[in-house]
Amino acid sequence: MRCPTCNHSITRVYDSRINTTNPKHHAILKKAGKVWDWWEPQLYRVRKRKCVACAFSFHSIEIDILDLEQALKDIRGVSDARLKTLQDLEQDNLELRQLLARCQPSDSKR
Ligand SMILES: [Zn+2]
Repeated sequence: MRCPTCNHSITRVYDSRINTTNPKHHAILKKAGKVWDWWEPQLYRVRKRKCVACAFSFHSIEIDILDLEQALKDIRGVSDARLKTLQDLEQDNLELRQLLARCQPSDSKR
């Protein structure tokens, strides 16, 4: 995993034992939860990492590929459904405009 600060390719894992029972870990778990708990609470591992080049320290989360794949499918599904709703609304609006145009009194037509 690359360093978010200097982009160096080697970042070492310093802690993979981050868990809910240690009160010191609650803040970082809350941060990780904002990223992933919406989809599947707790199904990831939080790791503390440090860049070997600049010593920048940060956290990463490790997610099972199948979980990530399914989450992305779900997001795409929601996005597609919203797009379909918008397209339907546009079609309804068009039909409504055509209907209104036909109902206009004849003297307003050009
Ligand atoms: Zn770095």
